[in-house]
Amino acid sequence: MSGSVKDPADLTDGALVCRDEGHSWRFVEDLVVENRGRVVEFTQVRLCPRCSTSRRRTIDGRTFAIKRTTYQYERDYVLERGVRLSRLDWRRAAITRALRRRAV
Ligand SMILES: [Zn+2]
Repeated sequence: MSGSVKDPADLTDGALVCRDEGHSWRFVEDLVVENRGRVVEFTQVRLCPRCSTSRRRTIDGRTFAIKRTTYQYERDYVLERGVRLSRLDWRRAAITRALRRRAV
């Protein structure tokens, strides 16, 4: 994925909020797969307006278990390969940025 970043400080404000607090999903559409009148799969397509990540969550029409969830990320949301951060690291980065902004 091109445009990946090395450090949380390089993320956009929106992406950093999502990394810290979670996405703000908005409805895009629901996709229904039917077979002979029965719902086989139900796919919820959602978009986060803050960071432009989209999510497709496919649910089994009989058991309602989640069969798969896929995400599509905008550039600058994803970290470079090998860089892994915990929720605490993201929170630290978000709060550091907020405090720095307040000090200006
Ligand atoms: Zn988001």
